[in-house]
Order: sequence, then structure tokens, then C-alpha cells
Amino acid sequence: MGKVVAIDGPSGAGKSTVAKALAQALGFDYLDTGALYRTAALALLKKGITPEAGDGKIKAALEGDGGVSIEFKKGRVFLDGADVSDEIRTKEAGHYSSVFSARKPVRDFLLPLQRKLGEEKNLVAEGRDMATVVFPRAWKKFYLDASLEERARRRYDQLTAAGRNISRKDAVEDVAVRDRRDSSRELAPLRRSPGALYLDTTGIPLEEVIRRLLESVKGTQ
Ligand code: C5P
Repeated sequence: MGKVVAIDGPSGAGKSTVAKALAQALGFDYLDTGALYRTAALALLKKGITPEAGDGKIKAALEGDGGVSIEFKKGRVFLDGADVSDEIRTKEAGHYSSVFSARKPVRDFLLPLQRKLGEEKNLVAEGRDMATVVFPRAWKKFYLDASLEERARRRYDQLTAAGRNISRKDAVEDVAVRDRRDSSRELAPLRRSPGALYLDTTGIPLEEVIRRLLESVKGTQ
């Protein structure tokens, strides 16, 4: 079992930037589990599966004959061998990833994949259920939060920097709807693990957040 630093929190709390920097500083691999959920959602959409589909149909699409292969290579994510790293970043992919991630066959499909990566390597893993479900025995656990306004602003900046078209109002709505769905679902809802260090990053530059997490990790080495 590798060492795992688990980082959870809602959309736009700065998890990706912080996790990437932390991984680099520690010499660990970076695992973006949101990318896995986005890719699984894209795979289902490409197979014509809609959110109304039953669990059996979703399971068969992911695991049946001609199922789905998801891989990470050099910071890029591949679906059945094709690089979908940019395609999964659209607002639509974000929406469907949040909808499909509430479904049991999707979570069952991605769980062993995540755990296998944690067995093979030292990881900084970020998502919604890293400390609570996937890596309950993680070496270090963090929960990053920020106000809705700040998270919507970061999401807006991120999408517009990537050339996507989104209004500020839509960014707030998008983040709020995803928060509600991710926190209220039955399976692996977004929760603070009792053992996680909580940090509200509102108004704190992400470089400072990275510094604090690194200090906390190094303090226990
Ligand atoms: O983090 P990101 O916004 O890329 O995640 C996309 C969606 O995937 C989230 O809104 C959430 O519904 C889902 N997700 C999840 N569990 C994780 C990571 C992401 O349910 N560990």
C-alpha cells in the first residue's frame, strides 16, 4: 500500500490546484478522481445511456462486453485509448458526471480502479469521498472548503481560461446545484471525515493553502 494524502471538498474549493502542487512537492502521483467520474459519464453518453437508464443497463455499458477502459497517462485521461482530457472539462460533462456519480454501478466500477492506484503508488488523491470511502486509512486527510461565491468565481475563471463560454450567473448556479446533488446523494455523499483537517480557503491565495498543507504533511513525516 502506498502513502495516500486524501483531499475532499466541494466543486471549486481549489482541490485540483492544491493537490497537484502538493503531489509535485512530495514526489507523489496526483489522482484526480473527478476526471474518472467525468470520463465514465462521457463513456455512458457516448453509448447513448441517459440518466433515466436503470442500474442494470449502466452496469452492462461499463462492465459488459466491449465495456469501458479508463486510463491515466502523463497527466492525461484516456477513454478506450482516446485522449478525452479536454472533452471532459465542458460544463455539460460536469453536469452529467455529477448526475451519474450518484449511481451505484458507476461508483462500483470506479472504486477498485482508484484503490488499485493507491496500492501501487504514493498518491495525492482528490475528490468527494477520498477520506470517507475510497482511502479511509489514508496517511493524511484534508477537507478544503470556500464560500459559494468564491468557488463560483474560480469555476468561472477556470472555464473561461480554457476558452469555454459561461456567464457568472451560470457559474454560481452550476456550483450550487452540484453542491446540493453531491452532498445529498445516498451513496458516498460529500462529507467531512472526522479525521480530516478542515481548511476554509475563502480569501486565502492558493499558494498559501498549499504552504499550509505541506507544512501539515511535513510535520507528521
Ligand atoms: O471534481 P470534479 O468537479 O471534476 O468532479 C466532477 C463530479 O464527479 C462531481 O460533481 C461529483 O459529482 C463527482 N465525483 C464524485 N466522487 C469523487 C470525485 C468526483 O462523486 N471522488
